[in-house]
Amino acid sequence: MGGRHRYPVVVAGPLTETPTAEILAIGSELLTPFRIDTNSLFLTGRLNDHGIELLGKSVVGDRPQALVEALRLAVGRASVVVTTGGLGPTDDDLTRDAMATVAGVPCHEDATVLEAIAERFARRKMPMPAMNQRQAMVPDGAAVLDNPHGTAPGLWLPLGHSVIVALPGPPREMKPMWETHVAPRLAVWFGMRHLRRRTLKIAGRGESHVDEIAAPIYGPLRDGSPAIETSILASPGQVELHLSAKGADVDALDRALDAAVCALSRAIGAPVFSVDGRELEEVVGDQLRARGGTVAVAESCTGGMVLGRLTNVPGSSAWVTGGVVAYDNLVKVRDLGVPEAVLAAHGAVSELVASAMAAGVRARMQTDVGVGITGIAGPTGGTDAKPVGTVVIAVDGPDTRHVVRTLRFPGDRAMVRQMSVQTALDLLRRACAEDCM
Ligand code: AMP
Ligand code: MG
Repeated sequence: MGGRHRYPVVVAGPLTETPTAEILAIGSELLTPFRIDTNSLFLTGRLNDHGIELLGKSVVGDRPQALVEALRLAVGRASVVVTTGGLGPTDDDLTRDAMATVAGVPCHEDATVLEAIAERFARRKMPMPAMNQRQAMVPDGAAVLDNPHGTAPGLWLPLGHSVIVALPGPPREMKPMWETHVAPRLAVWFGMRHLRRRTLKIAGRGESHVDEIAAPIYGPLRDGSPAIETSILASPGQVELHLSAKGADVDALDRALDAAVCALSRAIGAPVFSVDGRELEEVVGDQLRARGGTVAVAESCTGGMVLGRLTNVPGSSAWVTGGVVAYDNLVKVRDLGVPEAVLAAHGAVSELVASAMAAGVRARMQTDVGVGITGIAGPTGGTDAKPVGTVVIAVDGPDTRHVVRTLRFPGDRAMVRQMSVQTALDLLRRACAEDCM
């Protein structure tokens, strides 16, 4: 698509060293409980690929005043403002007008766009409704982004040191337009930049414990070249360290990130279970598969949740044999061979019972490793000696190895159960570590 007005004369390029972006998801339907803005998730990933940092995102209804204000604010602080939606032919599609208002330019009817829309209707042997003519209105200075999947063309409007990129709302139109038209333009506008990430996943250590070890390493990373940004995220039983670096040289970014991952892994040690995105159950599966080993699980307070996590891994039938949910003591005795006398003398939540459950399930399912879990998830059932949150986990095998731990987890029933699952998987991982099988 050529044309006199479409390509901007001013190609100022960005002012800032690190380009920034704002996303505006436009559409009143996105402010109801019935539709959610998913476009911004896609756009965030793609902007990051260009090394562009997201400053914020907003959802704006189809109201002229609100739209102009949101757009003005976004243009004032970000180098790229990406909007989606509001490019349709109806009265509530206001993005074109809002862009023109913010830029202080008039709109003109673009003959090429009009022709393309008319052709689209002609191909379907349908008359073109008069209102579709609105979609051919283009703010002066904007480049038109062709839309092969719909009638609404996109717009690229440079404004000083920023650029507004307006894309259609429907994801199936928006995504190809990004790939075909926006990504190549951004690469030229900013020079090709990249954002690379790494994640260290850690089990069996709390957030503050990890931070204490990692903090002395973070500092120099932040001031390094390339600078590495770090953040710490905690969920029950798991802490994650996220590292990212931006720049033009992908190899340099990868080298710096790999060195940082190495330094952090060495400092934190065995609690680091993955640096490649794998979850605990996937790591366990890879360990077992490598040795041709199998596992079975006997669960009381987690009611099958550990087996659920393990069998969630595709291909787990190669290394998961099965399990027993032994909620009632009757099942612990009948199906796992836990001696009644041990239950009577020590109680169901005890190291001897957890060990007997692990050994029992291992023997009955003829696996290399057996896991036993018994505990008090609450809110009732706690005693002074064994308060709510007391959980005992045993791992029997491989070979003659046997581990049993009594733990005391904080939080409500859901939290205790989740921590139990996480800890059981981590003990299993440690038992199956390379030197042990
Ligand atoms: P519009 O361009 O405003 O006519 O948008 C048309 C349709 O695109 C809407 O009815 C939604 O189904 C979809 N849509 C718009 N914005 C979004 C968004 N942010 N995320 C996902 N879908 C969207
Ligand atoms: Mg809309």
